[in-house]
Amino acid sequence: MPPMPLELPEIGDEGLLARYSFLPQSKNYVKKLLKDNDITIEQLIEAPWLEDIRARGRIRLVESITHKGGLKSVETVDLSTEIGRMTESLSFLHAMLVICSSFDERLLGRWIEGESSRADYLLGMDDKNFMLIAKTYFSGIREEKNETGNSIYWIPLSDFIELCPRISGNYWRLINRSVKDGWVCMDSGAGETSRQRTSRILKERIRENLKETCSERMEKMDDEFAAQFSSSVERIIGLFSERVQAEMPISAAKRDEWPPCFELAVSELNQGVNVNHTGRVFLAAMSRSMGFSQEEVLAFFSNAPDFSAETSGYQINQIYEREYTPHGCSALKTGARCPVQRGDDTLCDQEWMTHPLKYLRAKQRRRYNEGLNQNKDMGAEDDAEVSNSSLLISRNERI
Ligand code: SF4
Repeated sequence: MPPMPLELPEIGDEGLLARYSFLPQSKNYVKKLLKDNDITIEQLIEAPWLEDIRARGRIRLVESITHKGGLKSVETVDLSTEIGRMTESLSFLHAMLVICSSFDERLLGRWIEGESSRADYLLGMDDKNFMLIAKTYFSGIREEKNETGNSIYWIPLSDFIELCPRISGNYWRLINRSVKDGWVCMDSGAGETSRQRTSRILKERIRENLKETCSERMEKMDDEFAAQFSSSVERIIGLFSERVQAEMPISAAKRDEWPPCFELAVSELNQGVNVNHTGRVFLAAMSRSMGFSQEEVLAFFSNAPDFSAETSGYQINQIYEREYTPHGCSALKTGARCPVQRGDDTLCDQEWMTHPLKYLRAKQRRRYNEGLNQNKDMGAEDDAEVSNSSLLISRNERI
């Protein structure tokens, strides 16, 4: 596979680094922004003065994962000001951290698709910076002017061959492209200019690079770090399950990942035990955050001693519509809804365990990492059988 260039072109323009926050060169700029403004990750998550940044991140995140109006937020931030550049860059970072700490492959895949489509769109129009960005992702690029003065781009054959199978349409078959001395001509076609066509194939490299960046981040996150983002993740999962449930149902958390307080509420109701008000509201609100449909929650209540489908259905609907946040650990303890004692469950014993959603995040992070390790082990066995040289295959290719 032709790699991205080992030496990336230098980019000093901060507006550019902010607009294309996914660029590998933007990483140092973001670090500098955090340092110069004394912003810690904790502040990024909850400091009131950074709310605008989080709000911008949420809009972009929702647009990306629902793929609705994905391009509306393009250029709504004024990148000529320092605050505009900071908002754009840090909102991207916040969105990426929220998505990574969800440890949900479907959310991750949709977000990456949304961000890389946005990049494809922006780059197709960016006459000024196009070559610089393309040089970051392709092993080479050449620009020629045709007789009408329009740019025609050529990319190396090796890049084209690797990336074109991922795109459908006749344009992307090598047989339909002019090739000269190892370069492929990306002339205009299918109603798009040469730059737009080249941006389309560039999108595949951006997607690949974002996937890799997210995998690295997820591997580095520990339970406590992922737990800090639990309420942001809960908001997104809630929105996601409501908006795109029909086109792509999100499956709820697995039972062995349920926090003991949630497990207790479900099993008590199932056995016909009369669960108190705190327990019932918690059960419905927590279910929403965990991706259950309203019908599934109603089924949890169906064995309750006073069950009425109409009343329970109405109450569940209220909780879903008003987007209730589930109770935290201290409220559940006060309401006699926390079943654990010190020593019963090591996760619940952690000092930072203040909310059942944090419990869920930590469990999901562990499941994700176990899957990753299994894939690695399987890969290692295969490698041993095939040849030592294949040990050089990157982790991303195995997954
Ligand atoms: S400590 Fe918190 S997460 Fe654990 S069971 Fe109690 S309320 Fe639930």
